[in-house]
Amino acid sequence: MSLAGILGHPVGHSLSPIFQNAAFKECGLDVRYELWDTPPEALAGRVVSLRDPKYLGANVTIPHKVAVFPLLDELGGQAARAGAVNTIVNRGGRLYGFNTDGPGFVAALKNESSFDPAGKSILLVGAGGAARGIAFALAEARAAHISIVNRSPERALKLAADVAVTGAEVRAAAGEPDLSRYDCIVNCTSLGMRGGPAPGELPCAIGAARPGALAVDIVYTPAQTPFLTAAAAAGLKTLGGLPMLIYQGALAFELWTGVHAPVEVMFEAARKALAARESAAAR
Ligand code: NDP
Repeated sequence: MSLAGILGHPVGHSLSPIFQNAAFKECGLDVRYELWDTPPEALAGRVVSLRDPKYLGANVTIPHKVAVFPLLDELGGQAARAGAVNTIVNRGGRLYGFNTDGPGFVAALKNESSFDPAGKSILLVGAGGAARGIAFALAEARAAHISIVNRSPERALKLAADVAVTGAEVRAAAGEPDLSRYDCIVNCTSLGMRGGPAPGELPCAIGAARPGALAVDIVYTPAQTPFLTAAAAAGLKTLGGLPMLIYQGALAFELWTGVHAPVEVMFEAARKALAARESAAAR
């Protein structure tokens, strides 16, 4: 049997074992995906152990996405530009770091909302780790314009400057942006997340978006966030955070195995687990 897993601290809430194990089973692969709770002082030792042939690799989550860089042999895809690794692949004892968060976001837009970012104007609300991966992926997908607004403006300025190096048209928006200018508005903050800093708050006044715009929330617990509810009430198209989670996992699965990921099976397993959690939270 081969192993894969998620490195983070804490990782108990992660849905990845549920949908990755469903995918391995569906494809008849003898792989088990585990939760590897890894405090910072244990990270180096844990990553070294991944060179063993029994490991396909790992996912990496908070707080290790940046700290893991110097422990890897090579970076692939968008990892270097995005400044974060969320997937490690063991190839013959060498460790390769990738970032599938941003590409997973773009795949979710295209496959689940038929929205191709090429030529579109997109507003990111938030400038944390997730926004960073998304901004670089949108630049690579040839978005016409990317604006970034954040509670701490210096973080939006830094992200916009980093992404501008790719040649994309990107700027940090100051104050309350004019939402009617965008084809797509993305909540990349943790506002609305159950157990987060402000589960009932909206990241922006989404009702001011232009008719026909797409509102995307990358928060996936709860499935229906206040942002999505307000966007739907304003007649906008909406997309929740689960598709991004599934597609980043599907891309990692494909990097580890070379096998096409059974995305529908992964969705079904994750939806079932989320529904069980939501009914437990409602009790
Ligand atoms: P970070 O901690 O890196 O960034 C958090 C962001 O939220 C920052 O922009 C921060 O602003 C903003 N924020 C936090 N609290 C407030 C507040 N009270 N008011 C205004 N803004 C606030 O987190 P991540 O980028 O890693 O994750 C953000 C969210 O995205 C989380 O809910 C996470 O679960 C979700 N996520 C979903 C993924 C998916 O696959 N669907 C993948 C990754 C993340 P500031 O800079 O001012 O602190």
